[in-house]
Parts: sequence; structure tokens; C-alpha cells
Amino acid sequence: MRLSQMFFVSLREVPAEAELVSHKLLLRACFIRKLAAGVYTYLPLAWRSLLKIIGIVREEMNKSGAQEVLMPFIHPAELWQETGRWDEYGDLLMKLQDRQGRWFCLGPTHEEPITDLARQLIKSYRQLPINLYQIATKFRDELRPRGGLIRAREFIMKDAYSFDRNEEGLEQSFEAMRQAYIRIFRRCGLPFIIVEAEAGAIGGTENLEFMVIAENGEDRLLRCSKCGYAANRERAERRKPKGFEEVVNSRREGENLKKVITPNQRTVEEVSAFLKVKPSQLVKTLIYVADGEIVAAMVRGDHELNEAKLARLLGKKVAMADAATIENLTNAPVGFSGPLGLKDKGVKLLADYDIAFMRDFVVGANEADAHLVNVNWGRDFPIDQFADLRFAEQGDGCPKCEGNLEIHNAIEVGHIFKLGTRYSEPMKATFVDEDGKEKFFLMGCYGIGISRILSTIVEVSHDEDGIIFPISIAPFEGWVLPIENEGELMEVAERIYADLKSANVETVIDDRDERAGVKFKDMDLVGVPIQIVVGRTVRERSEVEIRLRRDRSNPTYVPIDKVVETVCQLKRQLFAELLPDEN
Ligand SMILES: [Zn+2]
Repeated sequence: MRLSQMFFVSLREVPAEAELVSHKLLLRACFIRKLAAGVYTYLPLAWRSLLKIIGIVREEMNKSGAQEVLMPFIHPAELWQETGRWDEYGDLLMKLQDRQGRWFCLGPTHEEPITDLARQLIKSYRQLPINLYQIATKFRDELRPRGGLIRAREFIMKDAYSFDRNEEGLEQSFEAMRQAYIRIFRRCGLPFIIVEAEAGAIGGTENLEFMVIAENGEDRLLRCSKCGYAANRERAERRKPKGFEEVVNSRREGENLKKVITPNQRTVEEVSAFLKVKPSQLVKTLIYVADGEIVAAMVRGDHELNEAKLARLLGKKVAMADAATIENLTNAPVGFSGPLGLKDKGVKLLADYDIAFMRDFVVGANEADAHLVNVNWGRDFPIDQFADLRFAEQGDGCPKCEGNLEIHNAIEVGHIFKLGTRYSEPMKATFVDEDGKEKFFLMGCYGIGISRILSTIVEVSHDEDGIIFPISIAPFEGWVLPIENEGELMEVAERIYADLKSANVETVIDDRDERAGVKFKDMDLVGVPIQIVVGRTVRERSEVEIRLRRDRSNPTYVPIDKVVETVCQLKRQLFAELLPDEN
């Protein structure tokens, strides 16, 4: 490609709207332009990269036995109402009406249409297993679209859905996808880690996220550097703290319990400031309803209760009690709940492990504008069970070994779920099994953020001058830069360009009538991996400078007639690095 003919307008200034590095660089290097908040045009450079990512994904999905389809963007509301997600999905769902007033949504994910397809076409166990995937645009009405392609409202995704007869089959489908994803992200040059995750809005049981650690990532993950255990913040468990058994079995004494007046002081911050104690000296008592049963869950004032952990501990769905329930139970307005006296009202009392270590702490008095100080569990109120109830934090004990957890910011690039019958049951999607019985499909779903891969690569692979692309998804492989625009140097550059194209190296030649300084800046900004500089050394000793974008300060000089050979060898080497085990 001749740069003089390419739709390419680089920006020197950083656009004001962009905060993340990837957003800035993709705008500056002319990859994307915004049409509306979270809605982007993919310009020629971006589309070349995206087509390569799509190519890798398609190849590995096909190799795994999945079959490609293309489903509509527009879904009738009735399908989403069958699973309850028309309401559950909330404002993220882009809804629209046709001229007859019928409701539709723009698909943010395709479990409903694919399950509808399966219930129509798959009748017998003989048709199973089957895994269908598509690569298409998805829509989510994000409240705060951010970071360019990292969190867009319209984005390209690969989504796959597997249908199996039994758990064993689902396990195999899930594992096949896990393997395919590992190859896909390796081939894309992404330094990913696989973490355990909570199911969230999609539902189902086991699920894994493919995360890339990035300073500006919106997700949090915890990882044990000793054994490799990794989970997202929602899911991460922690070991019982050291010394827990000793404190639980020891006698609890302390100062005398006292009631203090705390007018209008409700939050941890307000109460701790008012009483001049640290937030870690308070215990938050949170009232939940679990399938009709009221439970009180306690965490230290400076900690955050993890509802998913509470739900898993109880084996039930949990919801925070409403104000009326709390007032009825405690005889006090919200903000003054405490554990004393709740046991007599039949409330189950659960406490986070950390509470076991606390003495003479502060709790709500179950009375308006009052708290109790010098409270001690065991002496003043019973605890039914200590458990891991809060979000894991930096330095917590790993649940699998003696190591400790580290917290990282990360970007999610892929997610694989075992859905089980989460969709087949409400949608009555069944097949007839070998034993003649009608059974629900066991489903899995598997997503990859195609456009997000592009921005994630830029987010984690760049320097002060621009993007550093892995060769597999770079818009081009080689970039020829003649420092003069006419004469001998230009002729040599043209010859190298033509020869590289014949040798199947995707190459750009900067044949624009620009100063060398401008050309170097643009070459580094776009970040094509192999740079071929046709400069003074050509005149001095008939040698061309070849360097890798990631290692610009280490150029090699090769005779003009060895350039193509050298570039081809570098190309092979860069591809081989992505799958080291196979080369
Ligand atoms: Zn560990």
C-alpha cells in the first residue's frame, strides 16, 4: 500500500475526549473516528487489523468443530420476555419499536435467538453435540461508554453457543472452547491469564474469564504469585486468616458495653468521624432476604460485603432487605442496624472471618440516632457462622496455597460459560434422548470481544511514540521509509517495496512528499512491526537499515539485495514467537 494513497490522517495533538492510551493512539494513528458516544467507524488500518483478528478467531473456532452462522441484530421482545431478561437486562438493552408498535431490541448477546433456533431444529440426541458461532456487531447502551473501543456501545464480538445431551458433553464442549481461546489469544499476541468468574447477568454455573492485566483496565482480578490461582474480584476467595481458630475458641472479654447518641450519623464514614474511631473499629450489619428468610451479614466497617459470596454460602438468591423490612425488624431507620437482639427474632447471624479478631467495636443500636460501643461478639450477641463474606483484597491469603493474593487492574477479552439449562428450561428447548425421554439442552456460551482485542493490544503494547503491534494482527507487516522522496534512495525503496509485496510481506511504502521527521513519527505511531529505512547508508555502503518497532535502537544493516530475505526471516520469527510450543 502506498501511504500517499491511503486514507490516513495522523494527529499530532492528543484529542481531548480520550483518556486511555489506547483511545488516544487509535485516534492519533487514524484507526478509528467517533460517530456518537461509544460508536466508532473503523478506518482502513483498524479494519485490516480487525479482519486479521477475525481470521484467527474463525480459524481456531472452525478447527474446534464449531460452525459459523450469522444471526439478526434485531430481536423480538417476546424472546427476551421468555427468559425474563427483557426486564433483567435493564437499561443496557437498546430497545426500539417498529411501525406497528411492536418492541424489539438490538442484540447485546444471542442466547435467546440461538435457543429458539435449537428448539426448532434440533429434535434428537443424534444431532448433538453442536456448537454454533457468529462474528457480528453487538449493542449495549452503556451509561458511560469509555476508552474508545474498550467499552463501546456498538462493538464486534464473536459469540458461540454449544448444545449438549449431558454434563459430560458440556464439559467437553467447554474444554474445547478453553483450548481454542488459549490458541486465539496467543496468536493475537495478548498476554492473558485465565480467571474464575461469577456468572452475573448471563446466569449458569462454571465460567472463566480471559483477562489481560492493564493499568487502566476496569476489571479487578486477584492472583496468587505462588500457585497461579486467579479469580476476578467478584469471585476471588480467601483463606481463613491466620490465628482464626485461636481467637474463635478464646474467651471474649472487654470494656463495658455503652450506648452513645449519634444524631443523624448513619454511614461508616459519618459514625467513625463522629466517634473519632477508625472505620475498621466499626461492624456493618447488613440485612438481607434470602428466599424469604432474613439474615444479618456482618463485615468490618472498612470492608465491602460480597453478595455473591453470601448467596453461595446460603445456596440461595439474596437481596438487600428494603427499608420497611429493616425498620420492622430493628425498630430503627436504615443506618442504625446492629446485631444485638436479632437472634431472638429468628434472624441468622453471619460474620466475616475478620470480625472474629475484633474487640470493643461499634455497631448500630437498633434505635434511631444511636450506636453501641465496646461491643464484643459472643458476650453481647451470638454468631451463627463465620465465613468469607467480603471482597478479597491485596495481601489476603490464597485459598489454594500458603501464598498471598495480589490485586491487578485488567481488561476482559474473552469469557466462557457453562449455562446448563438457564435458557433451555424457560424457553422449553428440548430434544429426545436415547432413552426416549424429552430433555433440556445443556448449553454453554463463549464470547470474545473482537474490537476490544484491538484496543487491549494498544493499551498494553505501546511506547511514548506509538503502538507496538504483534505481527499477527498488525495492519501491515513491513513499512518502507525512504528518507528522500526522489532520486536513488526512492528508486531503491520502490524496488524493495515491489519485492516485498511479491514475497507476500504486507508492506506500506511512505511515498508521501513529506520531511523524513514526519515520516519517522508516523511509522512509529502506527506501529507496524518491521521497519525498513532507506537512508544515507544506501549511498555510503549500499546497505539498508532494518529494525523491529519494539526494539528500534537495535537496527541491523543489510545489503540491498538481502533485504527481502532478511524481512521474510524476521516475519517468520515474529510469528513463531507467538506459539513457542509449536515451533
Ligand atoms: Zn496460591
